[in-house]
Amino acid sequence: ERQTEEIILRTRGVGKTFGKFVALNNISAEFSRGAITSIIGPNGAGKSTYFNLLCGAFAPTKGSVEFEGKDVTGLPQHRFAHMGIAKSFQITSVFPQLTTRENIRVGLQALVSRYDIWRPRARLTELVERADELLALVGLWESRERAAKTLAHGEQRALEIGMALASQPRLLLLDEPTAGMSPEETRTMMDLIVKLAKERTVILVEHKMKLVLGISDRILVLHHGELLAEGTPQEVRQNEAVKRVYLGQ
Ligand code: ADP
Ligand code: MG
Repeated sequence: ERQTEEIILRTRGVGKTFGKFVALNNISAEFSRGAITSIIGPNGAGKSTYFNLLCGAFAPTKGSVEFEGKDVTGLPQHRFAHMGIAKSFQITSVFPQLTTRENIRVGLQALVSRYDIWRPRARLTELVERADELLALVGLWESRERAAKTLAHGEQRALEIGMALASQPRLLLLDEPTAGMSPEETRTMMDLIVKLAKERTVILVEHKMKLVLGISDRILVLHHGELLAEGTPQEVRQNEAVKRVYLGQ
């Protein structure tokens, strides 16, 4: 059992409406530093909407979001990124014509302002080394010279995560990283997530409950935009309301 006392991220009564449609209603939750917290629920439950609030892609219609004790509600997305929150969306977004390695370097270029602009050569060396470390970390070293469009689906998702890690985030948010993957690709991705979680906090959105039971410290269950249940994997698996929602899945 990991040490999961400190709260890195918190929402208080957040809601999100699209027109008159309530996609998410009154969600209060806490996310522990160093933990893997999974957000699960059937399709349409509001997982991606909540994910978007957590990473700053949307502002909530009501309620507040707190990161490391600071109210960050409604701040623009790039501020969330600068604070150390990185995300990888449900939809793949690599640059198809570039090689795997070039894609990672693009991710790193976004950080250029953090490097010493008066030492461009040192900066370049650092970027190149860091890119190669990230390639190895996400298991793509062997594929580094291949055009991203020729990578298997699972490898593209790993690449996307590598790009998200370029900013050295303290919090990594992943929305259905195993969507559309084969069982083998899924296993590889889950292993990668566990490895990444050793160094940073992870929030994982996943449709399939079985996948997250073994790796999560805590699980939130969304259903029809409401927080249906939360707890340890054990507690969530035994929860009657959760069983009903997942019956037959
Ligand atoms: P999940 O990720 O759990 O499948 P979403 O958060 O994507 O669910 O969607 C929750 C609900 O909100 C769904 O009914 C969806 O149709 C609706 N929704 C999501 N995004 C929008 C949007 N931009 N405009 C209107 N309705 C939306
Ligand atoms: Mg979704």
